[in-house]
Amino acid sequence: MTITPEFMTELKKEIMRRVSTYPNNKQFDLRLAKPDTWVILPYNPSGNETPRVHVCVGEKYALVIDPTDTPFDVRKFIEENVTDKPLLVANTHSHNDHTYANYLFDDCTIYMSELCQKELKEMRKSGRVKPDLLGNLHISRNEGTVVKAGDIIDLGNREIEVVEITPCHSPTSLLFLDKKAGVLFTGDEIDPGQINMWNIPVETFLNNMLYLKSRRDEFDMICAPHNGGPVHADTLNYFIENCERLMQGVEGDPDVGSTSYLLNPFESRSAEAVEYRRNDPVTRRSFWKGTAINYNVDLIFNKQLDEPHRLASPHPPKKI
Ligand SMILES: [Zn+2]
Repeated sequence: MTITPEFMTELKKEIMRRVSTYPNNKQFDLRLAKPDTWVILPYNPSGNETPRVHVCVGEKYALVIDPTDTPFDVRKFIEENVTDKPLLVANTHSHNDHTYANYLFDDCTIYMSELCQKELKEMRKSGRVKPDLLGNLHISRNEGTVVKAGDIIDLGNREIEVVEITPCHSPTSLLFLDKKAGVLFTGDEIDPGQINMWNIPVETFLNNMLYLKSRRDEFDMICAPHNGGPVHADTLNYFIENCERLMQGVEGDPDVGSTSYLLNPFESRSAEAVEYRRNDPVTRRSFWKGTAINYNVDLIFNKQLDEPHRLASPHPPKKI
């Protein structure tokens, strides 16, 4: 059977177009992770492609963490189904799939890192914002409000602390620690499905996990936007063990594609791109007790950054 990527892309668009005609409360799923802590799953036939939106409701305000790139009205969904409290917004990092729908919250305070603010400004200026899955192009006019490590966002008897680690996924990353509910919102710096390290050493990621573990008594749940979050905070132990195994010389698998990535019919990829993932010369996949790390085999230790090393890339090198 031949299913072309072009056909699947068109089919995805058509499904999304039909869903856009459905009532707003059928365009999202809603789950309660902890008291007053909600997880919203925007509909997308491609499963985990759209991140989850998290909402923490305090006595005065509710905080929306990452509006995502859903083309549906997530603000209306929150206001009609989750809370009538005034909304604040936080971006974990600048990637379009987390920030595109900021435009729905232009009249709210949107917290972000300084680098995220800079990156979003540049994206607006250069027109690098991508259209959504319905083909619309909305651009947020909100300038963003910069927060940094240790700052507190007070929702009214519910304090959210801004946490910084050495970024592995995006230099613009911030984490948010909900001290009342005991939940850590990690953005893509933790992904229970797979961490893509690309050209950051495993040791850097390990140090992040050790730092978060040192604060383990402040949270017992990790809410990650992709691939099946929330997960129990003990997942940190297995990320740590996974890194330590690699640093002791265990080598991962050159087939770095997860099945959901390789065989997701709604994510169109050429046969060449899939083949590259299955036999990547530089990247390895290390799976350990529910955690997976895709890492550069030349960059296990931080000191290797100063030595000659190959660069890992999500895409096959361009043929010249
Ligand atoms: Zn991201």
